[in-house]
Amino acid sequence: MSNILHSSRPLSRRAILRGGTLLLTCGGLELSAAARLLADDKTKSRRVRLAVLTDMHFADKAPAGSRHYRETIGKLAAAAEQFAKDKPEFTVELGDFIDAADSVKTELGYLKKIQREFAALPGEKHYVLGNHCVYTLTKQEFLDGVERKKSYYSFDKRGVHFVVLDACYLKDGTPYGRKNFVWTDPNIPGQQIEWLKKDLAEAKGKVVVFVHQRLDLPGDSHYAINNAVQVRRVLEQSGKVLAVLQGHSHKNYVTEINGIHYCVMRAMIEGSGAAQNGYSTMDVSAEGAIRITGFRDQQNYDWS
Ligand SMILES: [Zn+2]
Repeated sequence: MSNILHSSRPLSRRAILRGGTLLLTCGGLELSAAARLLADDKTKSRRVRLAVLTDMHFADKAPAGSRHYRETIGKLAAAAEQFAKDKPEFTVELGDFIDAADSVKTELGYLKKIQREFAALPGEKHYVLGNHCVYTLTKQEFLDGVERKKSYYSFDKRGVHFVVLDACYLKDGTPYGRKNFVWTDPNIPGQQIEWLKKDLAEAKGKVVVFVHQRLDLPGDSHYAINNAVQVRRVLEQSGKVLAVLQGHSHKNYVTEINGIHYCVMRAMIEGSGAAQNGYSTMDVSAEGAIRITGFRDQQNYDWS
């Protein structure tokens, strides 16, 4: 800019003024727009956007209480429309993807149908096991149905580390499945905790954890993971975990324990009609800021 204004090229006063004003205005605009674009670009490269859904409980059966199983397909289509606009890089469902059937064949049918819809959502798909996912099915059958290999694992996106946990185990370490489970007594077995410690120690960036059952409640609560305190200590000791996203209780809820946000997302299954729905997009920056934009009954959060 100063080079241009101090140019020795002979220009009329008007031209200089006009040119100067023009240059200043345009230059100013260009500069701030460029700076903004650059900043946007920088933030973008260090920020990941994901889509979050939970407790879809899809089943081709009559409603029971507040659960309208067949409506999940339409509610998911509404979420898909929103996600097509928001363009998340990946999609995670926090468990209870399907609801129970009496036979393996029927339950696999539910899984096949909802999986077809869910698979069309943006980006790669991540599945957290919920107690209803492995009611009649075994874990292997569920994982095969959604084409995943593991029930707990981790992955990285744009400098953020994401961890999927599986609390669908009895106290003695037996995996839930084939109607062998106690929904009020989920556990994260020792082997998975050892894996978690190692995974968090090696994690490069900030961490977000996905789990179906609740880590933020005392172990004697119906919704709590039996050894929640032990797991929370591992998360806290890493010094890297920003937030834990959970399902299971079906209602919006958030709390903060020792610097970690524990958030329960609104279940998709609850209530009848388009307005009775909940889903969200979540932005996580590598620096640790989180913004959750909720739709329908899902609440918004901003943790910067
Ligand atoms: Zn549920």
